[in-house]
Amino acid sequence: VKPMICENISVSKDGKHLLFAGQDTVELAKKYGTPVYLLDEDRIREKCRIYKAAFKKHFGEKAVPLYASKANCFKRIYEIMREEEMGIDVVSSGEIYTAIQAGFDLSKAYFHSNNKTDKDISYAMEHGIGYFVADNVEEVIAVEKEAERRGIKQKILLRLTPGIDPHTYEAISTGKVDSKFGNPIETGQAEEITVFTLKQAHIKLMGFHCHVGSQVFEEDVFERAAVVMLKFVADMKEKYGFITPELDLGGGYGVRYTDEDAHLDIETKVGEVAAAVKKACTDFGIEMPEIHMEPGRTIVADAGMVLYTVGTVKKIPGYKNYVSVDGGMTDSPRYALYKAKYTCLLANKMDEALDFKASVVGRLCESGDIIQEDVMLQASVGRYDIIALCTAGAYHYSMASNYNRLPKPPTIMLKGGNESYVVVKGETFEDIVRNDV
Ligand code: PLP
Repeated sequence: VKPMICENISVSKDGKHLLFAGQDTVELAKKYGTPVYLLDEDRIREKCRIYKAAFKKHFGEKAVPLYASKANCFKRIYEIMREEEMGIDVVSSGEIYTAIQAGFDLSKAYFHSNNKTDKDISYAMEHGIGYFVADNVEEVIAVEKEAERRGIKQKILLRLTPGIDPHTYEAISTGKVDSKFGNPIETGQAEEITVFTLKQAHIKLMGFHCHVGSQVFEEDVFERAAVVMLKFVADMKEKYGFITPELDLGGGYGVRYTDEDAHLDIETKVGEVAAAVKKACTDFGIEMPEIHMEPGRTIVADAGMVLYTVGTVKKIPGYKNYVSVDGGMTDSPRYALYKAKYTCLLANKMDEALDFKASVVGRLCESGDIIQEDVMLQASVGRYDIIALCTAGAYHYSMASNYNRLPKPPTIMLKGGNESYVVVKGETFEDIVRNDV
């Protein structure tokens, strides 16, 4: 049997059924219905522990990884992050609200976004957000104003763009000079905003942040970004006597969506970044700031899977075959957004040969509603078969929509090889009309 793309995926003893986190996916589809998001709690916790141990080993006690909760956001995930003693990165008042509901200590939260409204700023401060990661001067001014009104000193990091191309999908490439995010070092704007921020009476500048992109595999991207950022840290010390307490190098490590994707060992990768950071600090003659990173995808992606039921199989002689499932771009939007690659498996026929090429498509009224094109499936594929979309724990539920008024599927947490429980209920038709007046 060909090894699966991730260790938590396997097949039943008789070779027929796909297992995820040790549980029979065909049975799970029967129990919870489809479409359904599955999440492997043990895997999520394991990833947090790998990051935490690697950070402790390579960066010291105080260095904490932050879970980028945009990857998959709901109350239970914040409880798990709290239990695993992770920090979090949030990007909206909605994520902050969800974290509060889970009892997450917001002093360990970093608030991103390139356009926080005055309402967001006030809401976050009201609830004691640890840090704003300010993206622009307007935000620094607005944070200063609100902090003054409240009579507090607010900690912030400044988001900078180090001018590095991570060679990933354009839509998730963020560290280049030409980006809607951050202040470019190259143009002098990073220095300008630093000087401006240091003058604010109600802001405590704690350091700098960058995020070069997502689903990044290229060698040494993080190391190059770290060196550029630390050079800037050294320049700010030399020019303005500013000692940078913290440096946040963002998220972005890639995960295996298909057999062609490499396996990245997080411990090794963090070690490589740490070596580059330490060398740059020595070269530039500065103290090592407290280092953070913000993994999202690598924490939850391979802990997730979507199960669908096949409805129709359309064969167009001389053209293409289409296998339609009972969900689509509403629950799995990444192919529609930027043709993201995935592995699709026929969960109830794992013992049959893969000899039928087809595009797996959704049920939405949109030609671009495609899950994956040119997938090899079993020729007997037909109505009631179960299709599993692998590595689907990140940027699925958190990006889901109600296009065509499709209710969002439930999220089921799998645990210990035989337990499962609902962490997000599936939406009902009542939910769909809840705000209609
Ligand atoms: N930090 C920031 C600022 C981001 O924009 C993102 C993703 O877009 C992340 C962290 C998480 O990246 P990933 O999920 O690729 O680890």
